[in-house]
Amino acid sequence: MAFSTVRKSFAVAALAAVAAAQSTCDLVGSQTSIDSYKRFQIDYTSEQSEYWSTACSDLKPSCILMPTTTQEVAAIVSILAANNESFAIKSGGHNPNNYFASIDGGPLISTKKLDQVILDPVAQTVRVGPGNRWDEVSGALDGSGFSVVGGRIGNVGVGGYLLGAGLSFMSTEYGWAANSILEYELVLANASVVSVTESNHPDLFMALKGGGSNFGIVTSYLLQAYPQGDVWGGNLIFDATPEISKAMLAAVRDFTENYDDEKAGIIVTAERTLATLVDLWVIFLYYNGPEPPEGIFDKFFAISKFKINTCKTQSMHSLLSGNNWAIVKGSVYTIGTETMPLPNEANGAEVMQKIFDHWVDVSNKVQLVPGLIASIAFQPLPKKLAQVARAKGGDMLDVDDDIDRIVLELDYSFVSNLSYPKIDQTMRDTYGGFKTIVEDYQDSGLLPKDVYLPLFQNDCFYPQDYFGRLKPEKMALARRVQAEVDPKGMWKTRTDGFKIPSEY
Ligand SMILES: Cc1cc2nc3c(=O)[nH]c(=O)nc-3n(C[C@H](O)[C@H](O)[C@H](O)COP(=O)(O)OP(=O)(O)OC[C@H]3O[C@@H](n4cnc5c(N)ncnc54)[C@H](O)[C@@H]3O)c2cc1C
Repeated sequence: MAFSTVRKSFAVAALAAVAAAQSTCDLVGSQTSIDSYKRFQIDYTSEQSEYWSTACSDLKPSCILMPTTTQEVAAIVSILAANNESFAIKSGGHNPNNYFASIDGGPLISTKKLDQVILDPVAQTVRVGPGNRWDEVSGALDGSGFSVVGGRIGNVGVGGYLLGAGLSFMSTEYGWAANSILEYELVLANASVVSVTESNHPDLFMALKGGGSNFGIVTSYLLQAYPQGDVWGGNLIFDATPEISKAMLAAVRDFTENYDDEKAGIIVTAERTLATLVDLWVIFLYYNGPEPPEGIFDKFFAISKFKINTCKTQSMHSLLSGNNWAIVKGSVYTIGTETMPLPNEANGAEVMQKIFDHWVDVSNKVQLVPGLIASIAFQPLPKKLAQVARAKGGDMLDVDDDIDRIVLELDYSFVSNLSYPKIDQTMRDTYGGFKTIVEDYQDSGLLPKDVYLPLFQNDCFYPQDYFGRLKPEKMALARRVQAEVDPKGMWKTRTDGFKIPSEY
């Protein structure tokens, strides 16, 4: 595959010659006009506070580089290519895995200033810089009559979310967010800039759709725009009594199987504040229209005694920014996931309850960890989503429509990093237990056997084998593309994240 250089910084060659001897931070600071911030400068401190997890904020980069153009990103990569420093790339900082978008001692490239949102209403596209958050994108599009497929909580960053495929409220209508990406502008390890489309670089285009940060730095995404009017949505909040939990698990199972209307979306989460033993169900509801038709969410509204109902007709921007209440900063966060086949109605109560009870049992064991909050999200991955994702050209996940699935997402948050090792094990025990439960039910016939259950990258804990759970042909494609675009392994060996395992 020939990767033509679209643009290249004129300063690159000269800079590279001296880069080997000096650190990237020193060189960028002294030899370029790229914005570079050191510890104790206001921009450094402010950018460091923009992580979801305080454990990421605690890692201190040697400098934070904030390029404003693609050419500046290419100049930084060129300097990096001539030395061996580890580095990190950060968009919204919402991935809580330490060292993914954070670093201790090396340069951090923040995409914050690559923040364009440019709507072309005629072509029905939006060019979006990775420095945006989804509420900034929806804010810029507010009133335009268009939207894009993106995050469900506004504060999440564009850059990492899209590289992990992206699960959206609109996913059953339009697929993973990545299925609506038409072009990636990408800086490769050799500092060349390529425009990656389906027609000019089909394998790289596919690899980027859920392949994570293994191929370069994305400096802008060209997204398909969709006509957008008002939406309906908000939250329902319930106490998690045993009766309500039973009804909620039945409702989410039923919703996933009988997903009649692709305009509907939900996230069903349970939260436990263990010190105070406050247990809640928090449901995020969405409908792409001013009111949901009767029937769609009835099972949730039929569950008695919800404490709070914020659902209303509003703009997409209002919904996404309103959902930001769910982001509580000031804690260390961990995230993890497992994917389960949806049980049929006859087996649903037993299987769903077993999953829920396992989560309760494991989280009970860490209730003395200061400030511990445990949450689990049941996220429908219906056959319809798989169908539309494939119809739009596919992606690395390549989910089939043989079965409906549920993506389980776990979070544990806590006050002090000292508790990390304990929670690290707890997280592994929780998703590891889910896998065992699923396998046992497959063996006993209560869940379908021999089905494809990939992990959803955006919800993975750092040790989870994202690539190993993909289909072998997708793993092979990722390896092949990586060898072509990054033969020296710059992203593989010098940045953290979900890496493509070597062939044994
Ligand atoms: C409150 C909350 C809600 C969430 N909701 C959703 C949801 O609805 N749907 C969903 O799919 N996910 C969701 N997520 C998960 C989220 O998508 C991932 O954590 C994602 O990685 C965050 O994107 P970011 O840009 O903020 O990431 P960052 O933490 O900045 O980066 C994540 C990874 O991407 C890399 N990266 C970032 N930008 C670039 C770039 N331009 N080029 C190359 N590599 C880059 C980083 O190096 C890092 O490895 C949620 C997370 C949180 C905390």
